[in-house]
Amino acid sequence: MSDIIKLLPDSVANQIAAGEVIQRPASAVKELLENAIDAGATEVKLILKEAGRTLVQVIDNGKGMSATDARLCWERHATSKIKNADDLFAIRTMGFRGEALASIAAIAQVEMKTRREEDDLGTHILIEASEVKSQDLIHSPVGTSIAMKNLFFNVPVRRNFLKSNPVEFRHIMEEFHRVALAYPHIGLSLFHNDREEYNLKPSALRQRIVALFGVDYNEKLVPLEEATTIATIGGFICKPEYARKTRGEQYFFVNGRFIKSPYLHHAVQIAYKDLLPKETFPTYFIYLEIDPQKVDINIHPTKTEIKFEDERSIYAILKSGTQRSLGRFNISPTIDFEQEAAFSMHILPPTYPVSAPTIKVDAEFNPFEPQRNVKPRQTEMNLAAKSNLSNWEKLYEGFDRQEQPEAKPQPPVEPIELSHSYFQVHNSYIIVQVKGGLMLIDQHGAHERVLFERFLSMLKNHTGVSQQLLFPVTLEYNASDAAFVEEMMVPLHSLGIDIQRKDATVFVVSGVAPYIQETNIKDLLDELLDEFRQSNTLSDKNIPVARTLARKTAIRKGQSLNQEEMEALANDLFACENSSINTSGKPTFYKLGLCDLDKFFI
Ligand code: ADP
Ligand code: MG
Repeated sequence: MSDIIKLLPDSVANQIAAGEVIQRPASAVKELLENAIDAGATEVKLILKEAGRTLVQVIDNGKGMSATDARLCWERHATSKIKNADDLFAIRTMGFRGEALASIAAIAQVEMKTRREEDDLGTHILIEASEVKSQDLIHSPVGTSIAMKNLFFNVPVRRNFLKSNPVEFRHIMEEFHRVALAYPHIGLSLFHNDREEYNLKPSALRQRIVALFGVDYNEKLVPLEEATTIATIGGFICKPEYARKTRGEQYFFVNGRFIKSPYLHHAVQIAYKDLLPKETFPTYFIYLEIDPQKVDINIHPTKTEIKFEDERSIYAILKSGTQRSLGRFNISPTIDFEQEAAFSMHILPPTYPVSAPTIKVDAEFNPFEPQRNVKPRQTEMNLAAKSNLSNWEKLYEGFDRQEQPEAKPQPPVEPIELSHSYFQVHNSYIIVQVKGGLMLIDQHGAHERVLFERFLSMLKNHTGVSQQLLFPVTLEYNASDAAFVEEMMVPLHSLGIDIQRKDATVFVVSGVAPYIQETNIKDLLDELLDEFRQSNTLSDKNIPVARTLARKTAIRKGQSLNQEEMEALANDLFACENSSINTSGKPTFYKLGLCDLDKFFI
């Protein structure tokens, strides 16, 4: 018998190890951006093609590399960041394992140009599947450009495991956001398929958050500041009324590194306690600075987990810091939120000179008048018929509203002063006069919210009814997706999608609810699948399902609506449990008081 144990060739060993570090284009984005930051760059440009499948390129103006380093950095365990085991406990850089570039080189075609300030010429190097193809001198700016092309070109199996471009791009965005938030003082731009998606100037944190997530964040955030001997805590947390039904922006950074920590999340959530409406999550951007000796970031290959020496104290500091911040900015208790969420027409500030007696009240008005009460349902039908909203119309065929335990009764029609005072602008927004001012409604967002709550209730009560399809649709999925589809089957049945599994990878849809008959079922399931995968950690799968379906079937911008349709939509919106935001947390309506209008003309 001969011996059978062999040492794997380096290229194979690298490829296997690469699997740990580079799972998808987003992992390469993370590693390359972090390297640029570690190199002291102040401007970093990220260029992508096809969600990173064919190109992930990072160009930085950092310190560059010598010709020797430019060659050496592709070797496994090649790092300039730690020299001995002790250094592991004083890490201030993002990278330190020396495996990212070796991993990238093992599973892609790589081109690097790099130059240090002190060198006249830079180094140009081409590598494919860990093999150096060429190295020469080149004129290039100070800094480094690394282009990773055709990820997994030599590992087709791994390539097949990549998800659709939108999903891969979302993962990339997540990494980009993390880096952008950790380093607001660094200029960052992102190009995707030659389109500029972001051009973030160096700025303070608040401006960076706003540049990433939208101007409305400016108003949503309050600063968090807490300094103790164990840790310094900074950043922003959101006012409770802006908490979201879905886990949205929740970021912890420890010494500039994004981390995930359910334990610390709990501390924040607890601090909000009574201020948060049921089943909502606060948005936060929290930055902890701790002596690197007191944290161990070395426990996870992708380094988003972390161990604190004194976890309990950090928890306590975070909790009290959050409470103090909420208190300091005088964020009042639940009642405020209730007012915001419910349909409140207190548009005018208390100091405004207009008082109730000066407003003419319609004494004849009776909210319980029969035709008023039936109106919404009738007009919903009109809405569907007249504007040819087939989805909307069909929704009601398989779904009897009377049986739905609508969470709240219709609010009185009182807020809308005049009937027939709806006005649609650019087939996108609805303007209506209300007591004390006017209201602007986003028709798509509003309908999305209405459908979302309706679908959620269908999911809870299993009330979806399906109609047999003339031609059943056969759908094929790879093994991992098939597992997700299997998991989705119960919610799908509740919504009236009759899907059965035929074998390991084949599913057949033989009936769908009337309201989605016109929707491409394959597209719909693909989107649901994406959403489902993203929310894999959520215990309540109904939410992503209802959300996706609502987004897909809500009326679009550009759809013209008549008076009754607009009124029906407004009524439905304000009958929602949470009428003020759509399913992505964006406002569905906006109120302008007379005083606001007056200000335009001062
Ligand atoms: P690590 O970041 O863990 O050290 P990497 O494989 O990511 O390992 O990088 C290896 C080494 O290559 C780094 O330690 C650094 O010295 C060098 N390097 C990588 N990217 C850059 C860059 N953009 N600019 C300058 N040096 C870089
Ligand atoms: Mg690195």
